[in-house]
Formats: sequence, structure tokens, C-alpha cells
Amino acid sequence: MISVNGLIRTYGDFTAIDNVSFDIGQGEIVGLLGHNGAGKTTIMKMITGFLEPTGGSITVDGLDINRDREAIQRKIGYLPENCPVYPEMTVIDYLDYAATLHGVPETERPARVREAVAKTELTEKATQLINTLSRGYRQRVGVAQSLLHRPDILILDEPTNGLDPSQVQHMRDLIREAAQHATVIISTHILQEVQAVCDRVIIIRAGEKVLDARMDELRSAHRLLVTVDAEPARVDTALKQITAIRKVEQLSIDGHQRRYALEFQEQTEAQQCAPGIASALLEAGCSLYAMQPEQRTLESVFLEAAAHH
Ligand code: ATP
Repeated sequence: MISVNGLIRTYGDFTAIDNVSFDIGQGEIVGLLGHNGAGKTTIMKMITGFLEPTGGSITVDGLDINRDREAIQRKIGYLPENCPVYPEMTVIDYLDYAATLHGVPETERPARVREAVAKTELTEKATQLINTLSRGYRQRVGVAQSLLHRPDILILDEPTNGLDPSQVQHMRDLIREAAQHATVIISTHILQEVQAVCDRVIIIRAGEKVLDARMDELRSAHRLLVTVDAEPARVDTALKQITAIRKVEQLSIDGHQRRYALEFQEQTEAQQCAPGIASALLEAGCSLYAMQPEQRTLESVFLEAAAHH
């Protein structure tokens, strides 16, 4: 649905986005995760056609951003980082105006505005001036604005930034709701945000993509942690016939107990191999104290990805 290939953006001598590629399929909820200044906003502005790439290509449903910018923009609802909601307008007037900008026909506008107001739970505030709203409500107006033309794709730049915990909760519910009908990309510098709403994460660091993975893949362990009373050479010999093991690494020594991490060729093999590994160790005369799949958190993956680049 969205295909980004070799994307580059420079500002003078500075390369803000450096050869980033990814494909996003219909219905995915993808989190662009990175520290401030990593390049998330720059990528989003290029996908939404508000900033020209210096190099590379972006296509949406086969349309090219350079040639078919307006057609692509009609498919996308965009919440920019600092959504320009007009403070002196009422919520409803602003949304009516935004619907015009989105090209919603006049006869359909009242219904579309009502629909967006209902989805974002803004009914109570509909006739209030935007400058009298809290940040959380103003953010909802920004999201309401992005939904008016019923886009197939939602691109939300830091949608929970500056919100209090209950507003964050509401915004997450809103994103999940919206994701039932649309492909969603959100940007955030908060790991928990991605864990809460996304089914895939793309980590951006200093303009480069350093990780692109499904959340369920990240959660699934690809290492088995084993505690035995044997030194490395004995463990290696005992496990030699289990070819699925790619690497044995000693992690720690505690008295006569040694903890090892067993790494596998395929992520799924860790669990399957566990009984065979237990038997092999016992047959070799080792005492087995503990065995468990390694629990990876997004935090550890994020740190790993950062460390390798
Ligand atoms: P944040 O969460 O702080 O918005 P971000 O990941 O969205 O961060 P970007 O706003 O995309 O990051 O910025 C990426 C890099 O490009 C930063 O180093 C930023 O300073 C730089 N940058 C962005 N816009 C410009 C510009 N107009 N001129 C020069 N440098 C820019």
C-alpha cells in the first residue's frame, strides 16, 4: 500500500534522512519510533507530500508522490506535529472549514463533521472556541480534522505528545478504533506507545532505519537461557548433535552454576528444541538447574539496535 524506497532528505550539508526503505501493507498499525530529531517528522512530511524528498521514491497504492501528490493526499488523513487548529474558531466551524479543504462536498459536510466529532468524543466541546480547549481536546480536534474525508491511511505525528494519562488512554483507544478502517502510521519517542497500539515498529536513529519488525516477532524469544554445572567445552560437546543451535554464549558464573544463552537459526526453534537440549545435557552428565526462553522487551531491542549502529 505504501512503499518507501531509498528515501533521502538533506538540509544543506546535513542528511536528515539517509536511504530509508520500507513497505506498509493495508490495515497495519506501524509505529515510527525514535528520539527527538531522529527524522520521524521529516519522513511523515514526505509521505504526505508536504516536503520533497532529495532522493528515493514514495508510492501509495501505485501512485507516485512526485506525479500524483494530490491524489495521494486525498487518501491520507494527517495530524501534523503542531496541528494548525485555528484558535479563534469554534470546533465545529473549524472542522467545517477543514472539510472544505479536504474537498468534502458541501451537502455531505455537516454529516462528516458530526461523524468526526462523535468519533473523537468532542460533542460537548463542539461549539467552544478552540483557544478555550485543553491541549488534549485540541489534539482531538486535530485528529477529527484528519478523519473528515474518511481516509484509507492515517498518519499521526506524535499524537499523544503533551497529553495527561487519561487523555493518552483516550487517544490510544481512538487510534485503535481508527485502525479498524484504515492503515495507521504514528510517530513517537515513547516505547510504551508503540507497545500499546502498534503491530509493527520501525526504529529510526539519526536518519537511518535501524530496525523494522513485527511486535509479535520481537516478543517471541530466539534464545534459550540454560543454567548448568558444566564449563563451556563440556556444554559444546553435549549439544554438538543439536544442529539448530547457532551459538552458545556463557553469560555468567555463580559458584558451580553457569548460565548460557543458546542462539538458534530460526526464532521458532527455541521452544521446540528445549526437550532435546535437556536430554542431551542430562545424558552428558550435567546437572540442569534452569531453562527458559529469553524474554525480550522492546526496551532491550531498542538498546540493541542503537548499540549496533
Ligand atoms: P521530533 O520528535 O523532535 O520532532 P523527529 O524525529 O520528528 O524529531 P525531524 O523533525 O524529522 O525529527 O528532524 C530530523 C532532523 O532534521 C533534525 O536533526 C532536525 O534538526 C533536522 N531538520 C528538520 N527540519 C529542518 C530544516 N527545515 N532545516 C534544517 N534542519 C532541519
